[in-house]
Amino acid sequence: MNFILGSVPPEKEEKESLLFLFKQNELLVRKIKEQYNVPTNGSADYSKYLYSNMHYIGNIDKQSCYTAKYIQGQELKDDMEFLTLRQLFGQMDESILQAAFRAIQIVAWDDTHKFCGVCAAPTEKKSNEHAKVCPNCGHIAYPRLSPAVIVAVTKGDKLLLASNKNFTSTMYSVLAGFVEAGESLEECVKREIKEEVSIEVKNIKYFGSQSWPFPNSFMIGFTAEYESGEIKVDENELSDARWFSVKELPNIPGSISISRKLIDWYVQKYKE
Ligand SMILES: [Zn+2]
Repeated sequence: MNFILGSVPPEKEEKESLLFLFKQNELLVRKIKEQYNVPTNGSADYSKYLYSNMHYIGNIDKQSCYTAKYIQGQELKDDMEFLTLRQLFGQMDESILQAAFRAIQIVAWDDTHKFCGVCAAPTEKKSNEHAKVCPNCGHIAYPRLSPAVIVAVTKGDKLLLASNKNFTSTMYSVLAGFVEAGESLEECVKREIKEEVSIEVKNIKYFGSQSWPFPNSFMIGFTAEYESGEIKVDENELSDARWFSVKELPNIPGSISISRKLIDWYVQKYKE
């Protein structure tokens, strides 16, 4: 199963569609046979709920996916509950989770762009794409993406991992940071690494990318090699940063994130 992104719903639905209903950052899900799923729109599941801001977001095997903002409803059925997307990591089909990553960003964008940012007139939804147009001044607002680099830095056979001050547990991950206006991705990689751990890097290579909706990051992954300097941790952001070998890796992020894919890349390369 693959999620295929879209903006315009089909004229005729072939199957009952899936509805990704959000209460703030929590998704309404249903647990069936130990697996979480998203309820279908046509079933009785939703008759008790009031929702708004509905958008088509794409399809999974020709099953249309819609997203909407929960307003109110009666008590949930026993097998239904609201959970955050992070709570659903590893407990849901990856194509459904991928659709949910898009869904939560579209709902949040819709909710925060009711009025024009230029002249404050109420905006109108464009029919053929996810865009809000101002009927007064013509300003158009699209869903916001915040690009961020994420980098696996190696020094010989060791990998640089850091523990963020905001991490709830003692988890270590590769370094990441948001791209500044006017900056190239390569410049951002060098600046972030320099700011956070005070070292210089070289041989910056593109690795892959991932949409990461917490809240609207677009992660662009790179690998890089150590060039010079001694690790000195930026204590405003990090609690620790060190070089780790394959055999002594600490607690690392789960498999869905690009940070984990970068760490897995390192392990594959240096495991011998
Ligand atoms: Zn306007």
